Amino acid sequence: ELKSKLEELEKSHKVYPKVKFFPLNDQKRILITGGAGFVGSHLVDRLMREGHRVTVADNFFTGTKSNIEHWIGHPNFELINHDIVNPLYIEVDEIYHLASPASPPHYMYNPIKTIKTNTIGTINMLGLARRVKARLLFTSTSEVYGDPEVHPQPETYWGNVNPIGPRACYDESKRVAEAMCYAYAKQERVQVRIARIFNTYGPRMNLNDGRVVSNFILQSLRNENITLYGDGSQTRSFQYIDDLVNGLVSLMNSNYTKPVNLGNPDEYTVHQLATIIRDMIGNRNEIIMKEKMEDDPQRRKPDITIAKEHLNWEPKVTLTDGIQRTVEYFRRELNKNKNNQHN
Ligand code: NAD
Ligand code: UDP
Ligand code: UDP
Repeated sequence: ELKSKLEELEKSHKVYPKVKFFPLNDQKRILITGGAGFVGSHLVDRLMREGHRVTVADNFFTGTKSNIEHWIGHPNFELINHDIVNPLYIEVDEIYHLASPASPPHYMYNPIKTIKTNTIGTINMLGLARRVKARLLFTSTSEVYGDPEVHPQPETYWGNVNPIGPRACYDESKRVAEAMCYAYAKQERVQVRIARIFNTYGPRMNLNDGRVVSNFILQSLRNENITLYGDGSQTRSFQYIDDLVNGLVSLMNSNYTKPVNLGNPDEYTVHQLATIIRDMIGNRNEIIMKEKMEDDPQRRKPDITIAKEHLNWEPKVTLTDGIQRTVEYFRRELNKNKNNQHN
């Protein structure tokens, strides 16, 4: 009986993913706000595997525990249920500040909360960085360029944003957050890094995220109509998550202090994307047109000269490879949901 009890214990004992052993003085204490979300959870994986001590602060608005559950209980890992609109007092060496809804339906759901998160939330993280002398990386967005009149977009372009449109809560609060980062850098000598992230996709995107890649994959897997907003001639440039994580870590560790575009310059129309995804999944579902979104940027493509030059970084994963990996993830998630319904 004792033996079977022991076996049971062994089976239930959690096995964590491997982490590198680090001499204690090389190990950093890293805070990741929004670490339970899509991008944040991949960053957690990367920094945990490297052997650092990682704290996630997240209010689970769009993130989930399941994205990081494989680390829960690990001695190097801590998860705090925290809304960054409230102050946070902890001791860290680095802050990756990601907390903010990212997909248009999510950030439009409660525009005031979106603004508070990016403004008050960012002030709090800058205050924290100032007190503990931590370096802070802020995840800004290509949306700071608005509906761009310059193509592709270099970091020097100031943008074309409608300050009172439906996207303004996100675009303008990200813009002011950038301004706050540089105010703290100048006035308080806080070390800041700014990543302007372009459309990114991959496993752990929220299934109901509402962004184009997740929508089209779900529609194709369920054999439903693919919905183009407008005629599908608008363009985007899609970056796979692993490339972004490499870029974020390189930027944090570089000496470059101005904003840096992180994105994949391969540009596709939304209609092309629909065809690629539908053909890969192999259903013969229809591609239909719906109403155009208000203030929808018509073209978007990053100029990544700065990242290449200063970070020695460029994206490596092709759209077809990345979409394939994402489709596999969505298939598994849909099956999981199906099995749960049967139980
Ligand atoms: P996501 O929605 O998956 O993750 C955001 C995380 O922040 C979630 O876990 C959410 O619960 C958390 N959060 C939101 N408000 C919070 C608050 N007030 N307090 C604490 N936690 C809060 O989105 P994502 O795609 O992982 O985006 C991460 C960051 O990257 C965001 O800042 C986003 O603006 C930026 N970004 C993402 C993309 C992209 O294509 N994914 C593009 C540009 C910029
Ligand atoms: N703050 C925080 N954690 C800290 C230090 C500060 O959350 O460890 C918050 C604090 O609540 C403040 C904000 O960050 O509202 C800005 O801090 P700062 O020191 O720049 O300004 P002040 O405290 O003077 O407002
Ligand atoms: N889009 C679409 N169908 C969808 C979702 C999005 O045609 O089901 C379009 C959207 O209008 C935009 C592009 O795809 O032109 C990218 O939208 P997304 O929400 O992914 O990100 P954005 O770049 O607009 O922040």
